[in-house]
Amino acid sequence: MAQVHLRKIVKEYEGGVQAVKGIDLDIADHEFVVLVGPSGCGKSTTLRMIAGLEEISSGEIDIGGSIVNDVPPRDRDIAMVFQNYALYPHMTVYDNMAFGLMLRKFDKTEIKRRVENAAKILDIGMLLDRKPKALSGGQRQRVAMGRAIVRDPAVFLFDEPLSNLDAKLRVQMRTEIKKVHQTVKTTTIYVTHDQIEAMTLADRVVVMNHGNIEQVGPPQELYHHP
Ligand code: ADP
Ligand code: ADP
Repeated sequence: MAQVHLRKIVKEYEGGVQAVKGIDLDIADHEFVVLVGPSGCGKSTTLRMIAGLEEISSGEIDIGGSIVNDVPPRDRDIAMVFQNYALYPHMTVYDNMAFGLMLRKFDKTEIKRRVENAAKILDIGMLLDRKPKALSGGQRQRVAMGRAIVRDPAVFLFDEPLSNLDAKLRVQMRTEIKKVHQTVKTTTIYVTHDQIEAMTLADRVVVMNHGNIEQVGPPQELYHHP
């Protein structure tokens, strides 16, 4: 649970490309915000700066009341879900979900409690002993979400999590993600190029274009072009 504030954040890549041009955004506790816009508009760069995977050129990022500009990714109170799932192939589903907690020195009983709780939320309790190669795309995506949920972070970051799934599964997982958010209520920042996904999931949609924020508002107030 946390607010997130972006204050005039800029990303200039080597070679002078300004991918993000000084955006401001205030995100409330529990809010589900979707960054949407055409390819190359700066969505992923923005998310990666919040995660700490990309250094910011100027501006400030505040997560839960702390300026995190100089905090490494692992010490930020966030968990990120990637498009490619990023599961460890040699580990079971249980160990994939437990790994981040083991690194952070959680005790075994607490790890077990959290993994089982996340597995229940995601309905993957029967898959805990499998390896990723024995899972379907949708199941892998659930495990990737499970890894984020067990961390119980202040903020979830999603980078095009459904892009690798077929249309039917995308719709199903959209519902799943909405359900998870309603259960855990974690502040969420979600990147997609898919307007329907944005409209379905978001409390508030942030439309980006050429490194700027073009529009911000609840889905029902956007995309009206009378
Ligand atoms: P989106 O996620 O909206 O597709 P990105 O944030 O990935 O957009 O990219 C924004 C802009 O920054 C694009 O012009 C892209 O080519 C450029 N860009 C992204 N990553 C790098 C990089 N590592 N080095 C240089 N330019 C980059
Ligand atoms: P853990 O929870 O086990 O500490 P994380 O999920 O935080 O692991 O991942 C560790 C780091 O690895 C991330 O902060 C990120 O830098 C990098 N990383 C993991 N998966 C990806 C991916 N698919 N694409 C880019 N970077 C990734």
